[in-house]
Amino acid sequence: MTSPIEIELKPSAHPLAAEERQARLANPGFGRFFTDNMVTIRWTEGRGWHDAQLVPYGPLEIDPANAVLHYGQTIFEGLKAYRSADGSIQTFRPYANAERFQASARRLAMPELPQETFVAAVEALVQQDAEWVPSQDEASLYLRPFMIATEVGLGVRPANEYLFLLIASPAGAYFSGGIKLAGSPRSTSGRAGGTGAAKCGGNYAASLVAQAQAAEKGCDQVVWLDAIERRWIEEMGGMNLYFVFGEGENARVVTPELSGSLLPGITRDSLLGIAGDLGYATEERKISTDEWRDGNAAGTLTEVFACGTAAVITPVGSVKSARGDWTVGDGNPGPVTLKLRDTLLALQTGRREDTHNWMHRIG
Ligand SMILES: *Cc1c(COP(=O)(O)O)cnc(C)c1O
Repeated sequence: MTSPIEIELKPSAHPLAAEERQARLANPGFGRFFTDNMVTIRWTEGRGWHDAQLVPYGPLEIDPANAVLHYGQTIFEGLKAYRSADGSIQTFRPYANAERFQASARRLAMPELPQETFVAAVEALVQQDAEWVPSQDEASLYLRPFMIATEVGLGVRPANEYLFLLIASPAGAYFSGGIKLAGSPRSTSGRAGGTGAAKCGGNYAASLVAQAQAAEKGCDQVVWLDAIERRWIEEMGGMNLYFVFGEGENARVVTPELSGSLLPGITRDSLLGIAGDLGYATEERKISTDEWRDGNAAGTLTEVFACGTAAVITPVGSVKSARGDWTVGDGNPGPVTLKLRDTLLALQTGRREDTHNWMHRIG
C-alpha cells in the first residue's frame, strides 16, 4: 500500500453563514447546492500525481483548446456520506468507488488515481465540510469525484495532463412510488458502444436523445437493451435493474449479469449480498423484454426496481415498449422492494449491524 499524497488544506476563509447553510440543508433536492470547498489533484506525464489541495469551491479556468472540451476524456464517480444517529459520519464502500474509478480511467486511457488517495480526498473534504452532512433521516452528502483531461491542443490522443476534482452536494431523501419506463430497441442505438462499463460523461451525452423521446411518451426513464439482439435488458438510465420472481420467503431476486456493456453498480453488488442476508435466492443472468412481459402477465415476475447510489432503490411502476405496454404487478411498490430498500438504508445510516464491513467511518 502506497501512502496517499499529502493534501494541503487551504479551505475557504468565507464559508456560507450557518443560517443559509441550514436553509439549503432543509430542502437540498439533488445536485443544486455545493459545499464550501473542493479537492483538486493534478497529474502530469513524467511527474505523476501532485499538487493535492483542498481549496474553496469555485470555477475553473479552462483554455478553449483544452482536450476535454473537444474529445470528452472525462470520468466520474458518485458516493454518499451519511450521518448516523450517534452523530458520526460514514461513507458506504468508498474503496469500491475508488476501484471502479481506476477501471473507468483505464478504459478512457487516463491515469489511475491510487485508491488510498481517492479515499484520502473523500475524508479530507467530508471532514472539512462536515457541517454540510445532513442529519435528517435518509438525507446525505453526495460526493462527486471526477477527472478531466487538461492538456491544451487539438491533437487526438490521450492527454498528458489531467485534473482530479472532488465536489460535494447535500441530497434530500428521495422515494418515487413507481417510475414509468420506456423500453425500446432504438434506445440502444443512443448508447455509446463499448464504454457501458465505464462511468464516463460520453455515455450520458449519448443517452440524452432517447431520454428526451421517453419523456415525450410520458415516461421517466429509458431501459437500455443490448445493442446486438436488442432484447436483453441491461440497465436503466443511470441505475441498475432488479427483477423479483415469486413471493414471500420463496422470492428470487434476479439482476442482469455484467456483460461488459452495463455499469457494475455498487448498489447492485451490495443488494446481492443483502438479499442473501434476508434469505432470498439471488441470480445474475440474462433477462429479455419478452420474459419480463410474459412473466408479468403470468404473475410469476412480481416486482421490478432500479438501484443506484443517488436514488437508492426506486420501484418501476409501468413499461412502454415495442413489445407491448404493461403495469408491473399492481403498479405499487412491492414488499420485497421495500424490504431491500429499508435494509440497505438502515445499514447506510448505521441502524443495522454492518456484517459486510462496508461502512467507512470518517468523523
Ligand atoms: C453510477 C451508475 C449506476 C449505479 O451505480 P452505483 O455504484 O450503484 O451508484 C448504474 N448505471 C450507470 C450508467 C451509472 O452511471
